[in-house]
Amino acid sequence: MDTQQLPDNVLTTQLKKVVNWARRSSLWPMPFATACCGIELMATAASRYDLARFGAEAMRFSPRQSDLMIVAGRVCIKMMPVLQHIYQQMTEPKWVISMGACASTGGVFDAYATIQGVDQFMPVDVYVPGCPPRPETLIEGIMAIQRIVDQDGLPPKGGRRPLKLAVEPSYKPTPQPMAVGVPLTAGGRPV
Ligand code: SF4
Repeated sequence: MDTQQLPDNVLTTQLKKVVNWARRSSLWPMPFATACCGIELMATAASRYDLARFGAEAMRFSPRQSDLMIVAGRVCIKMMPVLQHIYQQMTEPKWVISMGACASTGGVFDAYATIQGVDQFMPVDVYVPGCPPRPETLIEGIMAIQRIVDQDGLPPKGGRRPLKLAVEPSYKPTPQPMAVGVPLTAGGRPV
């Protein structure tokens, strides 16, 4: 059809662009906040930073109503199956933000019980750096997700790694530093 014949109040576009525009303008986050980063996440949604400006203020505590997982804080190995379960229950298409040093790398908690990066067990789209990240940084992360949605719309076929069972970490744990030559004691008695 000749576009010259269209009246002025008609807009032509592609279906994919409209769907992506709707998706990126109505992200519903699933907050998985386990530690201090969660407070910054709450601040991002509060009036000063007003996440509603980006259409992402509707935090949902039911994974079936969410499409953006925000992992904010450290995750211990016992908690990882729960996180994976929630991720699996979220609707497709879905995206994941790893917020803060702890979620992305374990942060200062280089311990056997702390996951040294949630991306070892679930796909992560955007890493938000900081300890803790400021709300502006998280907003930039959400805008990065919006740019991903704009480009793809859907996760690329085969682009997502399958979930691993969180029975043990896939990294080699670093041995904890020990004082050399100092005998171990408990209650003043050698062990
Ligand atoms: S990255 Fe820093 S602020 Fe965030 S959970 Fe870890 S220690 Fe707390």
